[in-house]
Amino acid sequence: MKITDHIKNAKGETLFSFEIVPPVKGRNIQELYNNIDPLMEFKPPFIDVTTSREEFVYREKDGLLEKQVTRMRPGTVGICASLQHKYGVDTVPHVLCGGFTKEETEYLLVDCQYLGIENLMALRGDARKDQQYFEATKGGHAYATDLVGQIKDLNSGKYLHDDCQMDHLPDFCIGVAGYPEKHLEAPSLKSDLKRLKEKVDAGAHYVVTQMFFDNQKYFEFVEAAKAMGINVPIIPGIKPIAVKRHLQVLPQVFRIDLPQDLIDAVDDCATNKDVRQVGIEWAIQQSKELKEAGVPVLHYYSMGKSDNIKAIAKELF
Ligand code: FAD
Repeated sequence: MKITDHIKNAKGETLFSFEIVPPVKGRNIQELYNNIDPLMEFKPPFIDVTTSREEFVYREKDGLLEKQVTRMRPGTVGICASLQHKYGVDTVPHVLCGGFTKEETEYLLVDCQYLGIENLMALRGDARKDQQYFEATKGGHAYATDLVGQIKDLNSGKYLHDDCQMDHLPDFCIGVAGYPEKHLEAPSLKSDLKRLKEKVDAGAHYVVTQMFFDNQKYFEFVEAAKAMGINVPIIPGIKPIAVKRHLQVLPQVFRIDLPQDLIDAVDDCATNKDVRQVGIEWAIQQSKELKEAGVPVLHYYSMGKSDNIKAIAKELF
């Protein structure tokens, strides 16, 4: 079922969902199931599965270092299909512009259609690790808007190159990313919101936000988005702080601010076990306020380990 239908059917009740990251290749998928199992009692209607672009690694060959391209966490669509089959839950594979040609994307979309995957999260992706700025892959898309356009085209039967006789059109529900504290490359929040509006106008059906730790930022973002004519559901993304290093890493990677009270509480922790508890308590408070405000879904970034998400969900669902 489409995410937007799940939201409609919930009739104002806030739903629980979460995002998982595929295991590094070579690892057993059972590890992933072991982390998902404890969360299924909270009846998530959907689970997101992230994807990652190519990376370069250097391998020794004949005494010389050779640059090789690799993907460390493949399997997004396969994992989605497997979760749908195992848990009877809808899944949302993330699809990227960066690292993929339009043809490769079309191939992936057709796989999704055959597998009964009805939702997709359309993202640009970040710059490759060896590049300072994002550069579109040759033959790929430059912005998420263009990827949304490709998915929408497929929904209306338009393949990249072929005019096909269609007897069954896909009908993907498309999610896109939104940034309450603006995307790191955007010159202002307002211009970033204009870009978000372009994604919605191109065919996106809902938005999932970047993590934020101050609900006010989300509320203001939703207001500003509505004022700009963005009328699709805006799902808040919540990440519980888990280790002390997050105080440096999260602002650096995502260009987000952390509230001083949260920083002080984490600073006061003697161990990362204490930090994890602070992160859980902060996320519970955030989630309660968001739920009271009537958000459609509380969507958690699980980053592999589910004990903290379970502790939060137990208080809310
Ligand atoms: P876009 O919407 O294309 O925007 C990128 C930047 O370009 C923004 O600054 C925007 O303002 C600007 N812009 C947009 N259109 C134009 C235009 N026409 N001209 C000029 N500027 C423009 N990354 C992964 O690699 N894998 C994942 O699975 C993943 N999942 C994510 C899930 C969520 C909920 C979120 C919030 C992010 C996720 N990301 C993921 C990170 C995401 O790929 C990065 O934040 C990326 O840098 C931007 O992606 P986007 O889809 O928002 O890009």
